[in-house]
Parts: sequence; C-alpha cells; structure tokens
Amino acid sequence: MELLDGRKVSSELLEGLEKEVLELKRKNVHPHLTVILVGDSPASRVYVKHKKKACEKIGVLYEQLDYKAEEMDTKKLIAKIHKLNENPRVYGILVQLPLPDHIYEPEVIRAIEPKKDVDGFTAYNLGKVFLSTEFEDLPPATALGIIKLLDYYKIDLVGKETVVVGSSNIVGKPISMMLLNRKATVTTCNSKTRDLKSHTGRADLLVVAVGKKGLITEDMVKDGAIVVDVGINRDDDGKLYGDVDFENVSKKVSYITPVPGGVGPMTIACLMENILTACKRLNNIN
Ligand code: NAP
Repeated sequence: MELLDGRKVSSELLEGLEKEVLELKRKNVHPHLTVILVGDSPASRVYVKHKKKACEKIGVLYEQLDYKAEEMDTKKLIAKIHKLNENPRVYGILVQLPLPDHIYEPEVIRAIEPKKDVDGFTAYNLGKVFLSTEFEDLPPATALGIIKLLDYYKIDLVGKETVVVGSSNIVGKPISMMLLNRKATVTTCNSKTRDLKSHTGRADLLVVAVGKKGLITEDMVKDGAIVVDVGINRDDDGKLYGDVDFENVSKKVSYITPVPGGVGPMTIACLMENILTACKRLNNIN
C-alpha cells in the first residue's frame, strides 16, 4: 500500500505557485484574496486560518471580512459581494460556507462575479466543468486537488471503474464530472443509494465525500483499489477522521489518502492555484 501524500504534493505545488506570484509581482500585479466569514463556527475558523497561512506562504494578499451572524443578512451580504466584484484590486472572492441558516446560500453564491469565484461554486464555473477538461478554468478546489493528487502518482483514469460516494455540488458532483471528462467510468452514489457495498465493492477507484466517520469499512472495498477519502469528521477529542476506516481498509488497497494529510492540503493548494488563475485572466496574462 502506498499513501497518496497530499502534504508532500501540495507543498511542491505551493512552491511552484510562490514563484508564479513573484513573476506576477514583477509585472506589478498583486494577487489578492478576500474571504468573507459570517458567524463563529469553530470549523470555519480553522479552514480560513489554513487559507490565510497558504496565502501568506506564497505571497498572496489576504483580507478577511468578519461579520457576526446577527449583523448580516442575505441582502447585506450580497451588497458586500457586489462591492468586491467591482473592486479592481480584488482578484478572488471566497464566502466561507456554511453560512448561518438565515442567510440564503444559493443567492449569495450567485452574486459572486464568476471571474473572481476562486471556490468555483457559481453555476457558471460548475457548468464549465460539465463541458470538458478544456473548460475547467476555476473548478471547485477539492475536485481539482483530487485530480492533481491522482496525476502526481500517475494513476491512469482512462476506463477506470470509479465510484464516488457523495453527490454534493461542491465535491461529489464536480469530481464525478472531472473524472468522467478524463474517461473514467463513473458511478455516483448518494444517501438513497440501495446497497452501497455492491457499488463500492467493484470500484478500482473509490472516492468518498460524505462526512460520516467509518462509513466505508474493509468489506466494502475491493482488493488493490485506490481510495480517496475526502471526509473530515472531528471527534469529541478534536481528532480528525475521514469517512473510511483507514486502519483496516489500508491493509487491502494499493493507494489511499490519509486524513489528515490527504485531500485537505491539496484543496488549499488548488484554491491558491485558482486565485492565480483568476488573477492572470483578469489581467490578460497567459
Ligand atoms: P454534503 O454537502 O453534506 O454532502 C454529503 C453527500 O453525501 C450528499 O450527497 C449525501 O447524499 C451523501 N450521503 C450522505 N449519507 C450517505 C450514505 N450513507 N451513503 C451514501 N451517500 C451518502 O457534504 P460535502 O460538502 O460534499 O462534504 C463531504 C465531506 O467532505 C465532509 O466531511 C466535508 O467536511 C468534507 N470536505 C472535505 C474537504 C477537504 O478539503 N478535505 C473539502 C470539502 C468537504 P444526498 O445528496 O442524498 O443528501
């Protein structure tokens, strides 16, 4: 079994991006990300901290707008986003999800200018992922991170029997589509899938993005499979777990991502890549 080491691969990616930022700065272009955080979810605070750290590491200007849940509503948030859309210094806008219940998330995401949508969550950028690899300009960072991790380990996707468990708009659907674009044969499962094991058990490549600790057990995975665990589940003791029973599943697979240290760092690195992509496009730099 070999680990798909997201820490190692992401740090190599970040080194390359740091050089690109220097190049851009030489051209007097200063990549700038604005993150909007509403409320005080501890998990969201941890995620934005990682994003800030990565921006600082590669030289991207990072600005964070913090709002208390009670001082923000859908209309006010959309007005803030419109201002950022118009601000020529801002090349990336990221609204940290989930938003508090009283704010209507789809409307908020819709307000983001697609060219600055570095999360790749607007209908425009998600729609482009449907077309072909050629149009994957700003894909959701987690899906891009998974593709880059598999590429790094030279895992051939053509004709690969692939099962994705989870079909959210931000992970399950885009990664299914991006794998399909690369000619994998993809089955996507959701909470209503009957007999999950009959699907996961025939996967040569299994991607799991659900958010349930230990959902995928050893008996549900084929011998020699490649397993990508996207899930992040925090135990009472604060320890992180994936959706896959790593200890037992890792004994029978060919490759597996650890949690932490797998998809998580790849997501952050690919977010940085999306920021630079957006910045270059907005400045007409190839
Ligand atoms: P989500 O929006 O809650 O979606 C979960 C998906 O799992 C849904 O499609 C749901 O089906 C499906 N599901 C639920 N129970 C299931 C079951 N028993 N069998 C099969 N499918 C089931 O979550 P998400 O945003 O996609 O995130 C998924 C996990 O990945 C979470 O743990 C999240 O924290 C993690 N995550 C990690 C990263 C990273 O960088 N590592 C990034 C993003 C998310 P329905 O559609 O039928 O409800």
